[in-house]
Amino acid sequence: GLLNQSLAEVGDINVSFEFFPPSSEKMEQTLWNSIERLAPLKPKFVSVTYGACSGERDRTHDIVKRIKSDTGLTAAPHLTCIDASRDELRQIARDYWNSGIREIVALRGDLPEGSTERPDMYAADLVALLKSEADFDISVAAYPEVHPEAKSAQADLINLKRKVDAGANRAITQFFYDVESYLRFRDRCVTAGIDVEIVPGILPVSNFKQLKRFAGMTNVHLPQWLHRMYEGLDDDQTTRNLLGASIAMDMVKVLSKEGVKDFHFYTLNRADLTYAICHSLGVRPDLTVAAE
Ligand code: FAD
Repeated sequence: GLLNQSLAEVGDINVSFEFFPPSSEKMEQTLWNSIERLAPLKPKFVSVTYGACSGERDRTHDIVKRIKSDTGLTAAPHLTCIDASRDELRQIARDYWNSGIREIVALRGDLPEGSTERPDMYAADLVALLKSEADFDISVAAYPEVHPEAKSAQADLINLKRKVDAGANRAITQFFYDVESYLRFRDRCVTAGIDVEIVPGILPVSNFKQLKRFAGMTNVHLPQWLHRMYEGLDDDQTTRNLLGASIAMDMVKVLSKEGVKDFHFYTLNRADLTYAICHSLGVRPDLTVAAE
């Protein structure tokens, strides 16, 4: 029938979940509840972002360590290079390796507002530095709709190639809602000889106002249909969430039909939408274990 869904075979799809260090005790509780809820889906890894404010790297590290010890999941800290010297970065890499961390999401990080100076390190340099310290599994960022600072789409693609040539093991994309733009980008990566997985970054919409701000800062196109979908819902969180899950389910369905096997979810530390979307993809807890 019209609604026939073909679910992926168990183990066919890999998911990863991204979290951020919470800024209050209440949000801390939300984070751990979300991790506990999502852990049975056996993500390939979970990652924890790193903000530029001082002290946050320690918090990223603490959360990663606790995820590893409390849940046994593979946890990857994000690491940026914009505000640290090469010596500091080498030290951080050694500390991570010595505490058993083998996965890192390597980024340049955002430039301080209004800065006009050319940064002295880009993500490709960080990947090379990390690889020269130890054989980390490294994820890097990719931009289907082009990074805002890139000279051109081609220059941005060549930059991704540089990151992969420096040793990156996969690329995770900026979020997008125009599935075509992702698919075209994936084709261009293949043509450019980029031979790692281009993992789509899925951001389920729950707060459209906030999303418009994010999208503006990151050069992500919000299609007209998405604007229309959220009209009149500024005070209706429930409906926004239901729509957000439904839109993301449609996206992952199309992507999975196009052969995508790996999905990265920007959870914003919330589990519900991501859990439902994973379920729709056939990514579920192992019920045979639960029944024993
Ligand atoms: P790069 O790959 O270094 O690219 C940055 C820009 O410089 C691009 O426009 C590129 O084309 C250009 N460029 C690269 N090399 C050169 C060169 N040699 N000469 C001239 N131009 C060059 N930010 C955080 O602060 N913390 C996080 O935890 C975090 N997590 C993220 C996770 C994901 C999956 C993604 C997609 C982004 C994340 N970001 C995070 C945001 C990221 O730091 C910003 O987008 C940043 O502006 C670029 O980082 P990058 O690693 O893509 O940089």
